[in-house]
Amino acid sequence: MTNLLEAHDLVRTYQTRSGLLGKPTPVRAVDGVSLTVRPGETLGIVGESGSGKSTLGRMLLGIDAPQGGQVFFEGAAMPPFGTAAWRALRAKMQLVYQDPLAALDRRLTIAAQIGEPLDIHNLIPKEHRAARVAELMAAVGLRPDQAGRYPHEFSGGQRQRAVIARALASRPKLLVCDEPVSALDVSIQAQVVNMLRDLQESHDIAMVFISHDLKVVRNIADRVAVMYLGRIVEEASSDVIFLSPRHPYTKALVSSVPVPGKRLEGRVILQGEPPNPANRPTGCAFHPRCPLATDLCRTTTPALRTVEEGRTAACHMVPDIARPVAA
Ligand code: SF4
Ligand code: MG
Repeated sequence: MTNLLEAHDLVRTYQTRSGLLGKPTPVRAVDGVSLTVRPGETLGIVGESGSGKSTLGRMLLGIDAPQGGQVFFEGAAMPPFGTAAWRALRAKMQLVYQDPLAALDRRLTIAAQIGEPLDIHNLIPKEHRAARVAELMAAVGLRPDQAGRYPHEFSGGQRQRAVIARALASRPKLLVCDEPVSALDVSIQAQVVNMLRDLQESHDIAMVFISHDLKVVRNIADRVAVMYLGRIVEEASSDVIFLSPRHPYTKALVSSVPVPGKRLEGRVILQGEPPNPANRPTGCAFHPRCPLATDLCRTTTPALRTVEEGRTAACHMVPDIARPVAA
């Protein structure tokens, strides 16, 4: 099966200032990320805030243009943002953000907004619009009598359901969800994640699910890419990542999420400050926080490489089949 989405070596830099009078310095938010998404699969992207996940998500949809590298959707290069070709593609790829209230217009009813993509992409005759909106509302667990209500009349979870219904209206092949449940009560998070997983399966949608919360990603992802300071440091199937992480950073993240009945070998406690993209450490960017760091780690950046079938990792201390551990 060919890939639905491919990203090759994506780079995105922004300027930052340290202090009021500081000189602008370029910061690489995303630094050479490559990934693939197959039709119908869910790729989880995890990492702390500042790891470049959101920037990456926007580049995957062509909303932010990569300054290096390229994105391919259904085998064709992503057209430039805002062009007619990009807008046509937009129906096939949708974005769900963290904050549903910001994503919704408080002056319009929920039904008006859920149906927006139908109008924008001219997808349905006017007389069928109401029925399609009702179908979408039912798919996300909203009641028909809520159609005429406004965003402020809903709970946070219901609003995010409405945003998801709107994202599904154009029958997308790809959904990029950026922290879609982070703003919701913990008690609601699982409901919305389970709903997303069911919808993704029943509608055969591929999903890129971005989150800082491993528990959430574990519930939904087939594969997981772990990001640290703009780069992928480990990628494998969800089970492999959660049951036998190899990269020390992944180990630290996974260690912080207890799995009932499972003792993780080589527990790593994450120490030190969270990463600051404006101040990237030399060599392996994780070395100031890594309990295994050696001199080599401080000077030499480990390349992301295949360390075993179905797993890539960027760490000098992770052995691979072809090469023993670096000295
Ligand atoms: Fe730690 Fe070194 Fe591996 Fe980086 S390369 S994760 S510092 S052991
Ligand atoms: Mg983010």
